[in-house]
Amino acid sequence: MGAGHVGVDVGGTKVLAVRIDATGAVTATATRPMPGRTAPITAVEDAIVAAAHDVSGTETPAGLGISAAGLVDAAGERFLFGAHLPWRDAPVRKAIAERTGLPVVLDNDANCAAHAELVAGAARGVGSALLITIGTGIGGAVVLGGRVVRGAHGLAGEFGHMQVVPGGLACECGLRGCWEQYCSGRALERVTRVALGRHLDGPEVTALARAGDDVALHAFGSIGTWLGVGAAGLVSAFDPEVVVVGGGVSAVGDLLLAPARRALAESLQGTAFRAVPPLLPAALGPEAGAVGAALLARDGRD
Ligand SMILES: [Zn+2]
Repeated sequence: MGAGHVGVDVGGTKVLAVRIDATGAVTATATRPMPGRTAPITAVEDAIVAAAHDVSGTETPAGLGISAAGLVDAAGERFLFGAHLPWRDAPVRKAIAERTGLPVVLDNDANCAAHAELVAGAARGVGSALLITIGTGIGGAVVLGGRVVRGAHGLAGEFGHMQVVPGGLACECGLRGCWEQYCSGRALERVTRVALGRHLDGPEVTALARAGDDVALHAFGSIGTWLGVGAAGLVSAFDPEVVVVGGGVSAVGDLLLAPARRALAESLQGTAFRAVPPLLPAALGPEAGAVGAALLARDGRD
């Protein structure tokens, strides 16, 4: 056995690596910038290998899990499509296994995060849950019967590209009016830019909101409301015990979740006569995808 397992989360703006020990505790983290969407595939692979090496040092891990933002095939071999990543029907698992010499497991980022939250987080011991991850875009996972539901082709839970505004804002996926255009890190930046007339990135908007700035608070109110509206549709469909919200943008906590809880309660039918599931922050925070990938490398994909 090598020294623990490594998980690498590949998102639209960064590559985040963690190493976990035998108990699942995180013992190292590292971040590398993500090459742009038009970068060569090898540049993305370089970033993954470098981030994995950053957390491994001289100790070879027992296995490597990759959490990727987009569609992963049912076998966990190929990354099919992601609006924010350059891979198209690419044999990612094999490519990284060959470059690192390690056993590699590949899964969708939200499925990884759901596995982590089920094993060690906000959905521990829960039979039915929805996970909504808000980063550059939106990812999602459905947990029923204590397991991540993968769907007929491995593609279930892609909530971010549900159309919520017919003919609405153009999405990187090629469609229009997708939910993530209204509720994501990109949406936060857009709402702020429209109000201020200049660009601020997500961390800058967050800092302003924490300082009580009206424009930044309004921007979080806007994406939070959209979060609640979309979550209400999903709750109507699945009736989960809990809704867990993860991803980088979720790190702000109640600035996002308070307006989302309001909108969820207002957008669900019969709330005087039914339970409205709690909308909880992911216990593992923005690292949930990477931790889940490492846990999947340890536990195997089901
Ligand atoms: Zn889309």
